[in-house]
Amino acid sequence: MLVVGGGPAGRALAAETGRLGLRTVLLDQAPDAPWRHTYGSWADELPPGLPPSVVAARALGRAVARREHQLGWAYAVLDVPALRAHLDAGMAAAEVTVRAGRVIGRAGPGAVALAGGGEVRARVVVDAGGGRQPLGSAGGRVPAEQAAYGVLVDADTAAGLLAPGQALFMDWRPDHGEPGPPTFLYAVPLGGGSVLLEETSLARRPGLPMPVLRRRLTARLARHGIRVAGAADERVLFRLDAPRHRGRTTLGFGAAAPLVNPASGFSLAASLRLAPAVARAVAARLPDGPDRALDAAREVLWPPAARAVHRLRRVGLEAVLRMPPQRVPDFFELFFALPEHRRWAYLAGRDDLRGHLGAMAALFAAADWPLRARLVVPALLPPSPAHL
Ligand SMILES: Cc1cc2nc3c(=O)[nH]c(=O)nc-3n(C[C@H](O)[C@H](O)[C@H](O)COP(=O)(O)OP(=O)(O)OC[C@H]3O[C@@H](n4cnc5c(N)ncnc54)[C@H](O)[C@@H]3O)c2cc1C
Repeated sequence: MLVVGGGPAGRALAAETGRLGLRTVLLDQAPDAPWRHTYGSWADELPPGLPPSVVAARALGRAVARREHQLGWAYAVLDVPALRAHLDAGMAAAEVTVRAGRVIGRAGPGAVALAGGGEVRARVVVDAGGGRQPLGSAGGRVPAEQAAYGVLVDADTAAGLLAPGQALFMDWRPDHGEPGPPTFLYAVPLGGGSVLLEETSLARRPGLPMPVLRRRLTARLARHGIRVAGAADERVLFRLDAPRHRGRTTLGFGAAAPLVNPASGFSLAASLRLAPAVARAVAARLPDGPDRALDAAREVLWPPAARAVHRLRRVGLEAVLRMPPQRVPDFFELFFALPEHRRWAYLAGRDDLRGHLGAMAALFAAADWPLRARLVVPALLPPSPAHL
């Protein structure tokens, strides 16, 4: 078993296949590099077996569009070094071999080519290399990306924006004072008394440039008496619309799968939750051959309902990309005003087709006709052009 990519998804999967007795190699271009991202997810999406020490903070989710809304569920901010240590301990216990190397593509069935020459062979190859999909067949389309620029401040400084015990999933108030592409404030407690404040562009093709996000964050925070000095503590840029891998010979996992929900940008919890079942499917069917093992894993990752939800989420992404900037907060106002179970189905349930359709129907019913047209028409159009 060869897992290309040692992010959270690749490490979780490698630990599981190793644990089930498959000789597993994890290959990454920089396997020892520490993770510098702050990771979070909805608390109830995390797998139950995750040790409590991996969660740095929990907070109640809140959102502001035209009005303020309580999401009704909790957000968990992860202790990233603790998560890494947990996954690495799992890989060590399962005797996973970790190798350094940059993959530049396939070298025939069951083999990948490395930069600088050489190849690595395995019966089963998984692309867990993130949104750039080192083993993918990404075409020339400009990617739709989420981008954010964030700073850390102490909780007292952020108190005007974020009450203790709360996480601000989105605040669409235009406190940055600029027309143009819509951006929102994301604010979460990281534990230990510090708070991450991030100016975020949910989706743009390509991602909104960092200088724009920095300028907007500076202006927004200035309105709340907070000065932004120095460099960013976090810069976020990742792809929301990576295609699924073509053909039977490579399985995508993690953000490469792509497990990314474009409505939030989250994929981490889905990867951690799915890793054991994907590993079990591979281990159970490998005696029948690698193609069967990959087919079985694909059935776990992409049952018909998950494929349908994935397609609907992509239509939603295109709707947001094509929406006039001033209508985006109106759209989210309608969304956050939906009953809690509808919002949860849309933001979390990756294979809950009925829940997803219910949320879309409720949103459609609440929208005015111009917004309805903006929700439906993108399904009939090719992907939106790049905002160059
Ligand atoms: C700053 C930031 C914050 C984020 N916050 C969140 C969050 O709070 N919650 C959430 O769910 N998501 C978040 N995301 C999205 C995030 O990218 C994913 O959820 C998560 O990192 C995906 O994990 P992954 O293992 O699938 O891919 P990645 O973490 O992208 O890991 C891919 C790995 O593949 C390796 N690799 C890539 N190309 C090659 C190659 N050619 N050869 C060999 N190795 C290669 C890379 O070195 C990397 O280690 C954030 C992203 C960023 C950038």
